Amino acid sequence: MSDNWIILIPTRPNYVPDPQAQEAARALLAELLPQAEVTASVSPEIEFVHPFGNWSGVRCPLCHADIEEWCIEAITLASETAFANLTIITPCCGGTTSLNDLDYIWPAGFSRFCLEAQNPNVKDLDVQAVKRLESILGCPLRRIWRHL
Ligand SMILES: [Zn+2]
Repeated sequence: MSDNWIILIPTRPNYVPDPQAQEAARALLAELLPQAEVTASVSPEIEFVHPFGNWSGVRCPLCHADIEEWCIEAITLASETAFANLTIITPCCGGTTSLNDLDYIWPAGFSRFCLEAQNPNVKDLDVQAVKRLESILGCPLRRIWRHL
C-alpha cells in the first residue's frame, strides 16, 4: 500500500491564514475531495514540504543548471536556523534567489501553513477549485504532490 497527498501551501513561506479561513478552506477541500482525509495545520516554524517519492531533482531557475546536490546541502544548512533566511546565491551562475523559488522538477516548497488531502483518489484539483481556495485563504497557493 502506498499513500498520496495533494498539499497546498502559500507561495509566501511565512504566510498563515486566519483560523476561520483555514477551517473554511479545509471544509471546502473535504467537500471537493470526498474520498480524502483533509487536514489544515500550522507549524511554529517554516518547514520544507517535500514530495518524497515524487522528488525528481531541482534546477537553477536562472540558468537551468542541475543543482540537486548543492540544493540538498543548502536546505540542510538553512534548516539549522529554522529556514529564517531562504535567500541564496546560486552555485552555477552566482544569481540571487530563494530556496523557495528554485525550479523543483516536481514541486516542493517552504511553509508554515499546510492544507493537505491524503489519498484524494484524483490526480489534481481543477483550476477553479484552486482559485476558490486561494480566495478563501487570501494568498496564491502552490500544489505539492507527495507520494510515500
Ligand atoms: Zn544558475
